[in-house]
Parts: sequence; structure tokens; C-alpha cells
Amino acid sequence: MKYINFFFLFLLFLMSCKSQQNEIKYEFIKTDNEWREQLDQMSYLVLRKAYTERPYTGKYDNFYEKGTYHCAGCDEPLYSSSNKYNSFCGWPSFDKEISDKLVYDVDYKLGYPRTEIKCKKCGGHLGHVFNDGPKETTGIRHCVNSAALVFKKS
Ligand SMILES: [Zn+2]
Repeated sequence: MKYINFFFLFLLFLMSCKSQQNEIKYEFIKTDNEWREQLDQMSYLVLRKAYTERPYTGKYDNFYEKGTYHCAGCDEPLYSSSNKYNSFCGWPSFDKEISDKLVYDVDYKLGYPRTEIKCKKCGGHLGHVFNDGPKETTGIRHCVNSAALVFKKS
């Protein structure tokens, strides 16, 4: 009986951990099927399955027009072209997001912790944040998949 109680408490403990992880309530919600219908395959894989596009293949890697980069999932403006720079890493790089548009999470996919960035409105995976950005501005590099973004000219 004691064991059963302990097991039950342990289950409760696990469940409470899980609910804490999922506490973010996104404003823009769709079912998996709706996302599949709305997004092209690469955008779906990146935004909803946290895939990473191959380096130097994304449409905004070598792209420097003036405008705003919106979330490809929910159209929320996330980055300004004035914060885009060439980090030569193979993905679009920004030294700063538009204020209060992202949520940060920890990703252990490669076996060590990396800071994952997601759109605050729909929870779409965008990429990761690193501390090797331009020293003269923020020192931060937002390494973002092109497939997660839609550029709108200003
Ligand atoms: Zn979004």
C-alpha cells in the first residue's frame, strides 16, 4: 500500500512539473492539421516541429532590404531589417528582436542547453539565441530560420 501511495505522489509530482512547462498560453492557436494546411512544408517543419533549415539555403540569409520580418505562422512582426546583420553563420541573424515579441525556452536537442526562441503569439519555433553577436550593439545573435519568417517591405 505504501508503495502505491508513493507511486501516486510521484505521478502527481510528474504531472505538476509538466503543467508548469506548458503554462504559456498562446493567443494564436491552430490544430496540427490546420498548421499543415496553412504552411508550406519547410515552414511547418521549422515552426511547428522545431526543425532547422540547412545553412546557406534560406531565402533571407543573404537578403538586406529595408522592412519587417513577420512570423510565417501568425504574421506578428518579430524583427526589423535595421537589426539584421551578416554573421556568416548561414542563417539570417539579428542583434535584437522587436520588443516583447518572443518567448525563450531551453532546448537540449544537441545534448547541451541552447536558448530556443519562439514567437510569443503562436509559439512557433524560430531558431536560437547565442552570445556571439556584434559587440558594438547587443552582443546577441538571434539565429533565425528563413522559413519561420515572411519579409514585408517598408
Ligand atoms: Zn507567430
